[in-house]
Amino acid sequence: MNPIENILQKFPLVILDGAMATELERLGCNLNDSLWSATILMENPDLIKQVHMDYFTAGADCTITASYQATVEGFARRGLSEAEALNLIQSSVQVALKARDEFWGKSENRTNRPKPIVAGSVGPYGAFLADGSEYRGDYTLTEDKLMNFHRPRMKALIDAGAEILACETIPCLMEARAIVRLLEEFPRTYAWISFSAKDGLHISDGTLVSECAEWMDNHDQVAAVGINCTPPQYISSLIKELNSHTVKPIIVYPNLGEQYDAVTKTWQGATSGETYGDSTHHWYKCGAKLIGGCCRTKPGNITTIAAWAR
Ligand SMILES: [Zn+2]
Repeated sequence: MNPIENILQKFPLVILDGAMATELERLGCNLNDSLWSATILMENPDLIKQVHMDYFTAGADCTITASYQATVEGFARRGLSEAEALNLIQSSVQVALKARDEFWGKSENRTNRPKPIVAGSVGPYGAFLADGSEYRGDYTLTEDKLMNFHRPRMKALIDAGAEILACETIPCLMEARAIVRLLEEFPRTYAWISFSAKDGLHISDGTLVSECAEWMDNHDQVAAVGINCTPPQYISSLIKELNSHTVKPIIVYPNLGEQYDAVTKTWQGATSGETYGDSTHHWYKCGAKLIGGCCRTKPGNITTIAAWAR
């Protein structure tokens, strides 16, 4: 069963969670590290569970695991064996499932909302490179090599019980194609494919978002297609482009409009003045069916979505 369709049959939209890293930093973690939130999987998994819990409490119907930057090759640079790396990747799913089951175990949490689902984060190859190329897509790898890169984590996430895969911040159509081809090796698994975009018409590497939507439209295991980690001002236009080229549910979870500096590993620039609740309601009216937040968003942003959606 397609878990997105399952929720959308009974509810008008799927509320996603917000940033994991921003919350971990607020809780005192130092994430100035090429592995980002993945380091906390090793050092302090209870904090990750707490963040998942905070997002469910804020209203999220779907939480995304802390595996965006967790890859076998990334952990190998830290001297971890393949088995240790795969265990850590699986622990990102286990901790999210534990938070979900605990949350859903309380009857007061089960009113007027679907049972939340756990999406296994599949970050792009550029996130492993940690050089900002997830916002450029200027890879030198072939599509087959990208499949080889993604295969072990994808398998680990599915084996650990991820209910859908969140293939996110994808900067180029070639990587999305590699992931969708790889999905065919796991025929019972659904995924959403979410691109990073550079303006209101193009994903990061300059490909038209409409071309990406058209390609995704023909693939049954793609449960939703859309945009994340992109400034809010481009979202309405991107939704319109997606909507006219696919019948798939459209997913949007932008950042707060700041620019990520891959050298200093910090966010620069001003945030949008408009309230997040108003923006998300507008995107819903434009046709988005899965809405949440990416980098810099907090549980408070997700609460503003639940406020108009429920
Ligand atoms: Zn982001």
